[in-house]
Parts: sequence; C-alpha cells; structure tokens
Amino acid sequence: GNLLGSIGMLIAVGITALVGAGGYGPLAGALLGGGLIGAILAARVAMTSMPELVAILHSFVGLAAVLVGIASYLDPGVVLSGTEMRIHEVEIFVGVFIGALTFTGSLIAFGKLRGQIRSKPLLLPGRHLLNLSVLAASVYLGYRFVGVAPLSVQNELFIMTGLAGLLGIHLVMAIGGADMPVVVSMLNSYSGWAAAAAGFMLENDLLIVTGALVGSSGAILSYIMCRAMNRSIVNVIFGGFGADEGAAPAKSKGDKDGKDQKVQSVTAADTAELMREAKSVIIVPGYGMAVAQAQYPLYEVAQLLRKRGCTVRFAIHPVAGRLPGHMNVLLAEAKVPYDVVLEMDEINADFPETDVVLVIGANDIVNPGALDDASSPIYGMPVLEVWKSKTCVVMKRSMASGYAGVENPLFFHAATRMLFGDAKKNVDAILDALRQHDSQPPDA
Ligand code: NDP
Repeated sequence: GNLLGSIGMLIAVGITALVGAGGYGPLAGALLGGGLIGAILAARVAMTSMPELVAILHSFVGLAAVLVGIASYLDPGVVLSGTEMRIHEVEIFVGVFIGALTFTGSLIAFGKLRGQIRSKPLLLPGRHLLNLSVLAASVYLGYRFVGVAPLSVQNELFIMTGLAGLLGIHLVMAIGGADMPVVVSMLNSYSGWAAAAAGFMLENDLLIVTGALVGSSGAILSYIMCRAMNRSIVNVIFGGFGADEGAAPAKSKGDKDGKDQKVQSVTAADTAELMREAKSVIIVPGYGMAVAQAQYPLYEVAQLLRKRGCTVRFAIHPVAGRLPGHMNVLLAEAKVPYDVVLEMDEINADFPETDVVLVIGANDIVNPGALDDASSPIYGMPVLEVWKSKTCVVMKRSMASGYAGVENPLFFHAATRMLFGDAKKNVDAILDALRQHDSQPPDA
C-alpha cells in the first residue's frame, strides 16, 4: 500500500512538473525541502509517536487547502464568469472552511496526543451554541462572498478562515482522551474532503478522486470505531466525553465490608511459573507494549509455551494502543502468526475458560468499570473481560491510570496479580525463567 502510494505521488508530482506553468526553481526548492523534511521525520519517528505524526500531516493537508483556496481566489488563472464563477467561489469558500478547520483541529489533536495539551475535555458554557453561531456566521459570510465582484470581498474570506480555525480548535479541545482514536480518524476524513475541495478549485480530477477516497474511507473507519466503542458519532464530534487528566493513580474502592482491597503483586519468576502450569493463555497487549517494544520477547514466550502444548492466543481491542490496528502491526512485526491474533468479539467469551491472562501495558481496554460502573466516563465501551479468567497478570510500571484518565478496579480484583516494571524487562525475565526451567534436567 505504501509503495503504491509513493508511486502515485511520484506520478502526480512528475506530471505537475511537466505540465505546470510557473518556474521550475521554486518547484524544485519546495520538492527538495518538503521531501527532505518528510524523509527525516518518517525515518526518525518511533512507532509510539506515529499518531502524532499522522495528526500533524493532516494539518498540512488542511493548510494546503487554505492556501490553494486563497491563492486561487486572488489569482484564478483563467477568467471565469456567470455560473462557472459562482461555482468556483463556492468551491473556494467550502474548501477554505474545511481546510482551516482541519488545520487547527489537527494541531490540537497533535498537542493532545503528545501530552502537551491536557487530554481532559474543555467544556465552555453554551459550547454547542457557540459552534452553531460560528457555523451560521460562516454561512452568512459565504452568502456575501459568492456572486460579488472578484476581490471586493476578501475580508469575508479571511474572517471565515479565522472563524473556521477557531471552530477546529474548539471542537477538538472539547473531546476527551478516550475519544481521541475516533477524532484522529475523523480528521483524516476531513483532510480528504479538504484535498477533494482543493481538487475542485484546481480542476484536478486526480486530487478530487484521491481526496474523496480518503474522505469517505476515514468517515467509514470513524463510524466502525464508534460502533466498536459503543459511542454515537454525533456525540464524539460535539465532544465533552473523557474524564479527568491522565496518570491519576487508581484507588481501591473498598470491598463489600468497607475494607480497602489490596493489590497483590507478583514477580516475573512467579508469572513464568503460572504460565508454565497453564493449559491456556491469552495475551492482551496495549499501548505500554508499544512503548516498551516488548513484542519480540513476547513472541518467544508464546512460542515456548506453545511447544509445551499450551494454547496461546492474543486478544486485540479495537482501540488498543494509539492508532487503529496499532497492536496488529506490532505483533506482525514480531512475526506472531495471524491465526492466533483474535479480535475482541472473537475471544471475549473465552476468558472464563482461560487459566492465565497476561495484560501487557494495557489499561482502559480492560477496565471492568466500563461495564458495571454507570458513573465511569468510559461506561458503555465494550472491554476485554480479562477478570473472568482464573488468574490475570497485569504488567505495568505503576498504579497510574491509562489514556482516558479513568481509575481501573481490575488492579484490585481477587484474580488479579500486578507485575510492576517495564514491560520489556519483565517479559525478558519471564522468558529467561522459562528457558532456565526447560534447560534443567527433569529430575533437577
Ligand atoms: P492505556 O493508555 O489505557 O494504558 C497503557 C498503560 O501502559 C498505562 O496505564 C501505562 O501504565 C502502561 N505503560 C506505559 N509504558 C509502559 C512500559 N514501558 N512498560 C509497562 N507498561 C507501560 O492503553 P490501552 O492500549 O489500554 O488503551 C488505549 C487508550 O488509548 C484508550 O483509552 C483509547 O481510547 C486511547 N486511544 C486509542 C487510539 C487508537 O486509535 N487505538 C488513538 C488515541 C487514543 P504505567 O504508566 O503504570 O506503566
């Protein structure tokens, strides 16, 4: 897919260079500069920072649509009149609106994913009214803009650009941490529509088709993700969901007698022992596995256990990690065979019959509060029901909460054992313990 994309871009750039008016000097400068920055960024980016890179790239598409729109208004190139002129003006206005919204919205998403902007939703009083007013003002400006003598209504275009930019900021600021996956995929869709709008302005069929493809596939993906998280898409777009700031430590809610429940911790050697005795193991990876890059030793642990006759499978939640498909890519990278990697719906019913579940760097996606605590901000989101297994080992570094900033009662569950520390170091230690045991003579 990436190779085909690169070839497509090469053809597009080549044709543009061949047929394009204007000097080759600026074009070569832009190509070299942009290509170099892109190559360096892509080569350096860590898998865990991929979502931020995707968000910032979306913002470039938005910015490009704004610039193309304004440039094509100030210097249309060809002389248009009558209906053609009006259509062109509508294209410019709509294109710049979507572009500005995508640009600022993606910048905010970038900041939130990097942790530079807090993930807690910003809920201004009367925020829906505010959004509607901005939309109405933009429609009014558009009404004034279309069909008037060229260049006499520049201000309308510029004011609308500013308003759309503010709307993008406000819309994404109001979205809480747990809804960020859908937002990233929706901004992807917006950037597609912005590109399609630029295609209309430039009368470039290729840009219209690719933009529409990105726009509609992003919209479909957002819908699928919303369904997987049991959220309504309208609800996500207008935000306000996603609790407190991340990294708040989980607290014990106390048991039925009001006594504080205790966290039970285990060592890597204990975990290896548990796994050696298990007949069935399910591994649940999350964002922490990506951070620690623990997928490679994890694959070896799985191989060792399978050789012993144990059934080992991986359970993937649709929003595990920070990108759709994040975990699948990491596991494929480590050569985990596809047939043991199962989606949530395929494996959720199997937890009660499972001896050991290894939760590795996952938190929100295994939070039982999503099912039974109506006050939880992630209430209603389907989760992997790991606590139903005989023993569930949770590997993480501390008691901190996950991305949505929600406490996790799983850590205090009777069947849960916490294995604290970096996931890679702990998986390495489990692997060592398993290997050591296997290398000992049977009577040792
Ligand atoms: P979470 O962010 O909920 O939890 C990850 C856990 O990993 C943390 O609690 C952290 O705990 C632990 N961790 C971090 N580093 C390490 C390490 N080196 N070793 C061991 N543990 C580590 O991730 P999940 O995958 O469970 O859930 C995904 C969340 O991200 C959801 O809320 C989802 O909505 C959101 N999201 C998903 C996107 C997607 O498209 N999939 C995009 C954007 C957001 P500790 O600090 O204690 O180690």
